[in-house]
Amino acid sequence: MMVQLLKQRRDENYDSAIDNGMGGPLSGIVYCASCGRPMQKLTVHSGKPYQRSMLTCKRTVVKMSNGRRCPVTNMLDYDATLNLISLLTKDSYASLDFELINESLKEGKTKVKAFEKIYELNALITDKKNELNSLVSEATESKTPFKVYKQMYDSITNEILAIENEINVIKEKGFETYDSINFNKDLIAFLEDKKALTAHIVAKKIKRVFRLKDNSLLIVKSDIPLSAKRLEEIRESASNYLTLPSLVHELNDRLVSYRILEIKE
Ligand SMILES: [Zn+2]
Repeated sequence: MMVQLLKQRRDENYDSAIDNGMGGPLSGIVYCASCGRPMQKLTVHSGKPYQRSMLTCKRTVVKMSNGRRCPVTNMLDYDATLNLISLLTKDSYASLDFELINESLKEGKTKVKAFEKIYELNALITDKKNELNSLVSEATESKTPFKVYKQMYDSITNEILAIENEINVIKEKGFETYDSINFNKDLIAFLEDKKALTAHIVAKKIKRVFRLKDNSLLIVKSDIPLSAKRLEEIRESASNYLTLPSLVHELNDRLVSYRILEIKE
């Protein structure tokens, strides 16, 4: 049941860009602001000592809606971009209280027991449904007024509805707890340098990374979820953000310039 819920939740959060050839922590968040297509990882000079991974919007087969080519021809260095996102993510979580997180992990574990309760409640529903069936056969044979049976029938039906409701509430809360336990575990490991950055961790702090026409990045940071509509509005007005202060990140002589757009509400 938990696996099904996890699958369902993932499908709901699934970004159509995730599977476009780029796995890993940057999946589904880096877009070209000029043509709107997701940036994809491309390996250049493959097999040579100077092999490099780059980010480009050209690799995808999805054409621009107006059929024209994207005006931006430059590519971005993948490793430098990933390193930058990793640092920004770490900084965002720098003030985290590890002890507090560990406490919530412990507390969450007991809440996961909620799933056992669901099985219990489902068994109860089966019992109630059997009760309904025998009530129906009893009513057809008995001389007791039908009205009496009708009342009993309605009352059991309401009980079943109430149990189903309870199950739904547990499913929702139980899932959230399970989800946040795993997230916190991943986050702690990442902050302690024991685990690589995941797309899940990035997504909590960085909602989009747009490649602007000067091949710099506009990093949209926010702790709150941003709607697809809002993100599209930002993309459409992306050139306005060229006025934000430009910063430079360097990794092994590879440079990425970027701007940060922080959204608080
Ligand atoms: Zn493009």
